[in-house]
Amino acid sequence: MRINLSRLLDKIVYKIDISEKMDINKLEIGKRTLELVEPIDIKGQVFKTDDGNFIHVDITCEYKENCDRCLKSFTNKIETVLSGRLIEKSNKKFNDDDEILIHYQGDNLFLEEPVISTIILSLPMKSLCKDGCEGLCPVCGIDRNKEECDCEDNNIDPRLAKLKELFD
Ligand SMILES: [Zn+2]
Ligand SMILES: [Zn+2]
Repeated sequence: MRINLSRLLDKIVYKIDISEKMDINKLEIGKRTLELVEPIDIKGQVFKTDDGNFIHVDITCEYKENCDRCLKSFTNKIETVLSGRLIEKSNKKFNDDDEILIHYQGDNLFLEEPVISTIILSLPMKSLCKDGCEGLCPVCGIDRNKEECDCEDNNIDPRLAKLKELFD
C-alpha cells in the first residue's frame, strides 16, 4: 500500500486524506494466527505543520482467532492509531527515542509495515474468547464454560491421592 507524498512534500497541499483498505487474509505473529474477517481499514491523513510532516490514521482490524483456553474460535475487533513524524528513510537527523518515526522513500510512503506493527502492538497479550474463560477440563475435555464435570477429584496427582487417603 503506497501513498504518494509528492504534493505534500512540494508544499502544493498541506494535507492528504487517506482512506484505504488493506486486504490481507492472515497475520502470523509468533505462534498466533489471526484470520482477518474484513480488510484492515485505514483512515486519516498525512499533514504538514511548521515542525514537519506527520501522519495520523485510525486503524480498524477485525479478526478471528482460537481461544488459548477453550480452543473455540472467536472474533475480536481492534481499533488503534498510527501516529508519528514522517521522515525520509535516509534522514538521520531524528532518532526514534524521542518520537515515533515513520519512514518514506523518495515520494512514497509504504503503509503496510507500520500498520501491521501498530496492530501487533495493540493485540491483547492472550487470545481469550472472553475474560475469565474457564477453558476445557484437562481430564474429560468438556467446555467448562457450558458444563460442569466431577473431574476435579480425579485430577489429583496419584502420590497426593495416597496422602489424602491417610488423612481421610
Ligand atoms: Zn475460551
Ligand atoms: Zn472433566
